Amino acid sequence: MEAEIRQKWAAARVWAARQAPYLASAMLALEPVFEDEGKYDLSAFPTDKAWHIYVDPRVVAETEVPAIGFWLLHQVTHLLRHHGDRYPGGHPRRWNVAGDAEINDDLHTDALTVPDQAITPTKLNLPDGWIAEQYWEKLPEPPQSSDCGTGADGQSRPWNCDRPGVSSISARLIAQDVARRIKDHHRSRGDIPSGWQRWADEVLDPVVNWRQVLRSAVRRGIAEIAGRVDFTYRRPSRRQRPDVILPSLRQPLPTVAVVIDTSGSMSDGMLAQILGEVAGLLNSLGVARNRLHVVCCDAKAYAAQRVLNAHEVKLLGGGGTDMGAGIKAAAELRPRPDLILVLTDGHTPWPKPPRAKVVVGLMDPAGTVPSWATSVLIDPETVAR
Ligand SMILES: [Zn+2]
Repeated sequence: MEAEIRQKWAAARVWAARQAPYLASAMLALEPVFEDEGKYDLSAFPTDKAWHIYVDPRVVAETEVPAIGFWLLHQVTHLLRHHGDRYPGGHPRRWNVAGDAEINDDLHTDALTVPDQAITPTKLNLPDGWIAEQYWEKLPEPPQSSDCGTGADGQSRPWNCDRPGVSSISARLIAQDVARRIKDHHRSRGDIPSGWQRWADEVLDPVVNWRQVLRSAVRRGIAEIAGRVDFTYRRPSRRQRPDVILPSLRQPLPTVAVVIDTSGSMSDGMLAQILGEVAGLLNSLGVARNRLHVVCCDAKAYAAQRVLNAHEVKLLGGGGTDMGAGIKAAAELRPRPDLILVLTDGHTPWPKPPRAKVVVGLMDPAGTVPSWATSVLIDPETVAR
C-alpha cells in the first residue's frame, strides 16, 4: 500500500471525525480491507455486518478527502441503524436507496456536502426526515445508486472477507456510546440532526419509544406481506406495450385486524388511549383507512367491530383471558386479515401460530409472547402522555 493512499485515508477519517464528532468512535471502529485496484465497484466504500469497510486504493486516489469522509460517515450510519437487518426482502438495491435517503438528510450540514452520486430525499422528490421503511414504500422506480454492501442490505458480496471483525455485542456497545455522545453534543451544542436524536432515544430508552418501535414492527410486517407478491415493477406482456416498463398496479395493502385484551387488568381509559394510538398508526401507514377491525377479547372473543374511529369501539369484556380466542376470531374475519395486532398484558395462553402475521403490543414486561409473534413492549406509564 502506498504511503500516499494511507495518508489520504487517515486524513479522511480526521475530516469526518471533525464533521460529526459524535460518530467518531463508531467510524474509527470500521476496519479497512484493501482490495486489488479495479477488481470490484467499491466506489461507495461498502461495508459488511462485521464492520469491515472495503477499499479500492484507486478510488481513494481519485476521490477528494471530504468525499471519502462523507462515505465513512454514511457507511457507519448504515451499520449503526441496522439497515442490513431491516431489509424487508425482494429488492436489495431499492432498499439500499431507501436507506441512503434515511441517512443522507442527517449528514447534510454546512461543511459536509453530499457527493453527486449519493441519494438524497430531495433527489427522490420525497420529504426529509423519514425512515428507510417510509422511503421504501414511496420510492419511484429505484434510481441508480452506489452499492453500500452487506451493511446496507444484509446480502453477501463477492468481496466480503471472513475475518471476525466487530461482534454484534461490540456493535451494540459502540451504538450505546454513540447515542450517549449524541445526547451530550445535543446538550452542549444543540446542532444534532433530528434523525440522530430519534435514533439515540431509541438506543438508550427503547421502552419510552414504543410508538416508533411498534410503528416499525407493523410497517415491517406489512412490507413482508406485500413482498410475497410482486410489489414493485414488472414487465407487461409484449403484446400490451412493446418497449416500456410500467409500474404494475400495486397489490392492495394488507388488511390488519386489532385484538384488544379486555380481561380486566387494564383500565378502559388506557385501552381506549392505546387503541387510539394504534388507529392513528394504521391510518398513517395507509391501512385501515376506511374501517378499523377490532375484536375485544377476554376469555372469549366478542363480535368484531368495524369502526371509523377508535373511540367508537365499545370495550366489551372483563372476565378471564385467552387471546387465542381473539386471534381465532380475527383470523376468521372477511376479508381475511394479513396482520393481526394483539394488545395485551400477556397474561394469557397463546394458540398455535395462525396463518396471519402477528404483532403483539405487550403492556406488561412480565407477560409472555409466543416465539412466532413479533413483540413490542408498550410502557403503560407513557401511554397517557
Ligand atoms: Zn448507502
